[in-house]
Amino acid sequence: MYCNCLLNFTYKTLGKSNFKRLVVWGGGLELEIKSIYTNYANSYLLWEEQMGIIIDPASDINVLQGVQIINCLATHGHADHIVKAKSITEKYKIPLTLHQEDVIYVQDDSYNLSKYILGESLSRIDNLQVIKDGDQIDFNGHNLRVLHTPGHTPGSVMYLLDDKYLFSGDTVFKDSIGRTDFPGSNPQQMADTLEKLINIDKDWVVYPGHGEVTTWSEAKKSLKYWRQFVNAR
Ligand SMILES: [Zn+2]
Ligand SMILES: [Zn+2]
Repeated sequence: MYCNCLLNFTYKTLGKSNFKRLVVWGGGLELEIKSIYTNYANSYLLWEEQMGIIIDPASDINVLQGVQIINCLATHGHADHIVKAKSITEKYKIPLTLHQEDVIYVQDDSYNLSKYILGESLSRIDNLQVIKDGDQIDFNGHNLRVLHTPGHTPGSVMYLLDDKYLFSGDTVFKDSIGRTDFPGSNPQQMADTLEKLINIDKDWVVYPGHGEVTTWSEAKKSLKYWRQFVNAR
């Protein structure tokens, strides 16, 4: 089963390619990042010295053997991004970290789309750590900055690691943006978010919630178009 968090026709363009592959990326870098492509959303594991952080707990926990998870971050509260949140946070005795405006998503099935995406209800998650725009999360001396980018959901965020690597959730994909027609979505908020993003001139590597890794300069090429499209809806 696949999430349909991308806008419809772009989703068709991307196709239902098989995302069940592992990409280990980071030779020579200070920090390793593993992208775990699942049937649901992309899941990212950042690790260093056997300590790890998960961004979007959508992946099977078996791949995490040997790494102690010290933080579990969600880019937003849709079920395909948090399908493993309950088991991971219980195993490592850590809260699920997400934006305050998406708390309702992990506590109310009608928002998180679990019946639509997973075909069943998602267990309510109460062990939460709430974040807001501008918050900074330390990871073994590395810095994860929270960028609040509402629109797809009110509490959608992107996580910026060391001002180099952007985990963009369902806000920005390689050639598209997140849908704005789900419960709690807001096209005007997305338009405002895109307005801010198109003015950011950075050389980030972008790890989206769905699809392939890209660069900020590549991703930005389509954002002006999507800005107009969202506004016209
Ligand atoms: Zn998604
Ligand atoms: Zn989503």
